[in-house]
Amino acid sequence: MKISEIFKKRDKGISFEFFPPKTEEGKKQLLTVAKELSTFDPMYASVTYGAGGTTQERTRDVLYMLKEETGLTLMSHLTCIGATAESMDSLLNDYKEHGIDNILALRGDPPPDVPDFDPTKGEFSYAVDLVKFIKKYDYFSISVAVYPEVHQEATSAEADLEYAKQKIDAGADFGISQMFFDSRYFLDFLDRAYKKGINIPILPGIMPITDLNKIRKFASFCKATIPKEVEDRMSGILDKPDEMQRVGIDLAVQQCEDLLDNGVKYLHFYTMNKSEVVIKIIEALKERLG
Ligand code: FAD
Repeated sequence: MKISEIFKKRDKGISFEFFPPKTEEGKKQLLTVAKELSTFDPMYASVTYGAGGTTQERTRDVLYMLKEETGLTLMSHLTCIGATAESMDSLLNDYKEHGIDNILALRGDPPPDVPDFDPTKGEFSYAVDLVKFIKKYDYFSISVAVYPEVHQEATSAEADLEYAKQKIDAGADFGISQMFFDSRYFLDFLDRAYKKGINIPILPGIMPITDLNKIRKFASFCKATIPKEVEDRMSGILDKPDEMQRVGIDLAVQQCEDLLDNGVKYLHFYTMNKSEVVIKIIEALKERLG
C-alpha cells in the first residue's frame, strides 16, 4: 500500500527502519524482529540501501522476504550516487513487479576513501534528480530525508532548507529526519519548514542510544548534537551496557513524549534490527500512540 494513502487515514502512527543483514542467520533474525514489531501496527517498515548500490541485492531480498512473510507495508531506501538511469529503471521495474510501491529517495554519501569525489559528475547529482526520475513512473509513494541540524555538507541552513523544499516540490509525499537528540532542533526545523511552505508530514527519526560511543562517532559524522543531559547520564556508565540501555530507553521515551506534546503525530524508529529496546519505548508510550 502506498504510504501517502496511509497518512490520509491515520492521524498518528509509528514506523520502523531495518538494514539488510549480511548473513542468512541475520536475515532470519530480522524476520523474527519484523514479525514481533508488526504486532504494533506500524504504518510501514523501511529497509536501507548502501550508497553506490552496495547493498542492492540484499536490500531487495530482504524487502521481498518481508513482503512474503509479514503483512508490513514496505519502503525501500534508494540512493542515486554513482547510479545510472538504466540501473535505476531496472530496479524500479523489479520493485513494481513485486509490489514494493514506496521509495525513500536519497543521494547517498560520497565514498569515504575517495576524498575529491564529486557527486555531481554522475547521471544523478542530488536526491531531487531521483525524486523526479521515480515520479515518472506514477506508481511509487516517495519520501525524502531532511536534516533538523542541517546536512553536514550544506553551505547554510537556509540553502539546505531550500534544497529540501526543491526535492519535496518535485514530488515527495513525506519526509524523514536525520537522528537528533534534542527535540528543539526538530521542532525548530518544522517551524522553519512550515514558514517556507512545506506542508507534507515530516517524521522525526528516533535513534535510541544504547551505546554512547557508537552514537558519538555517527553523531560527529552527521553533525547531530549530543545534549549535556545525555552525556551527564551516560558517560559514567559506558562499561555497563544494561544500565546504558535502560537510560537510553528512558531518554528516548522522554524525547518521544516531548515531540508528541508538541504536536508531532508520527514517529520513525531506527531499530538497528533489534526489537527489545523499541518495544520497551513503544510500550511506555502506549497511551499516547493509541
Ligand atoms: P540531497 O538532498 O541531495 O542533499 C545532499 C547535500 O547537497 C545537502 O548538503 C544539500 O543541502 C545539498 N544539495 C541538495 N540539492 C542541491 C543542489 N541542487 N545544489 C547544490 N547543493 C544541493 N544513506 C544511505 O547510503 N543509505 C540509506 O539507506 C540511507 N537512509 C537514510 C535515511 C534517512 C531518514 C536519512 C536522514 C539519511 C539516510 N541516508 C542513507 C544518508 C544520506 O544518504 C546522506 O545524508 C546523504 O549525504 C545525503 O542524502 P540526501 O538524499 O539528503 O541528499
